[in-house]
Amino acid sequence: LLQSKLVSAALSIENEMSAVGEKFKDGKSQVSKLEEKIIKLEEELDSAKKESSTDHLTGLLTRRAFDDEMQRIENGFVRNDTQYAVVFFDIDFFKQVNDTYGHEGGDVILKTFAKVLQKETRELDIVCRYGGEEFVAVIHFNLKRELLKYLKRIKSIISQNKFLYKKDKIQITFSAGTAIRSKYDTYTNAIQKADLLLYEAKESGRDKIILDDGTTI
Ligand code: GH3
Ligand code: MG
Ligand code: MG
Repeated sequence: LLQSKLVSAALSIENEMSAVGEKFKDGKSQVSKLEEKIIKLEEELDSAKKESSTDHLTGLLTRRAFDDEMQRIENGFVRNDTQYAVVFFDIDFFKQVNDTYGHEGGDVILKTFAKVLQKETRELDIVCRYGGEEFVAVIHFNLKRELLKYLKRIKSIISQNKFLYKKDKIQITFSAGTAIRSKYDTYTNAIQKADLLLYEAKESGRDKIILDDGTTI
């Protein structure tokens, strides 16, 4: 009797042990399931981040991404004195483009304009779609003539080419304001100045770029 009791006790211990084992195994698979879930969520988060940082129509940075990138560029300015300019662009009479060629035509113009800015902007620089038909570029430079060269190039590309939409060749102009970071206490002030100069360019007849030293291109 004693022996059979011992045997059954041993058996029950064995049973419990294997139950623990099962539980452990099950726990393990739960962990790997969670790991899989985490990986999937991380991937989703990555693509959501990318989506919120890239403008759907133009592929340029969104305003949100611009704020982040701006911080990075500003850090470079503070630490290494990396000079840069903020340039606000706004297409002239864009509402008229939409009215004449339709929203789809307007979209094509926006995409093409964005492509021009993107193409002319170097790796370290950034271009963002700030609003509907308003763009902002942050351009690094050493000598002021390099900045002027960039601005002149954009202006001549836009004025010397027509935008193609279906069979229509559309001529557009833009206005812009440019502020050089080192002239201001904060980068926010430089951004505000560039925006103000864009407004001035509009007020004084459009189709021009105004810099914060009074230069007009
Ligand atoms: P201004 O020379 O003063 O800049 O005049 P404007 O007509 O360009 O400026 P306004 O702000 O009056 O109009 C901007 C227009 O841009 C109105 C809006 O419908 C259009 N717009 C904004 N976002 C988009 C877009 O994604 N696609 C298209 N097709 N049009 C857009
Ligand atoms: Mg406009
Ligand atoms: Mg506008």
